[in-house]
Amino acid sequence: MTTPISDTFTAQLREMRSDVLAQLHAQHGGAMSRAEYDQSQANTERELSFALEERESAELIEIDAALKRIADGSFGLCVDCGVSIPAARLHASPTALRCINCQTQTEH
Ligand SMILES: [Zn+2]
Repeated sequence: MTTPISDTFTAQLREMRSDVLAQLHAQHGGAMSRAEYDQSQANTERELSFALEERESAELIEIDAALKRIADGSFGLCVDCGVSIPAARLHASPTALRCINCQTQTEH
């Protein structure tokens, strides 16, 4: 029995999400209690968005979008051409939306 690949990425994305939130709390002097921290994780975007640094905010949105794609089964497929994004690319960057070909074209 093997672990479905989506479980691996779900765990990785959740960990990334916790890291971003922890960074935000640190930046904003957030000496939060464990209960407050859990509460904020449950409500994230809406409650914290006013205080989020732009970069971390964008990161959270990407992470949440990736988690949503895992839920609806479209995770790992290029949003432009629909091919499967190589697992190595996803492991390096679980929020990647495009295959390398399309990403390269987007950056031009
Ligand atoms: Zn593509």
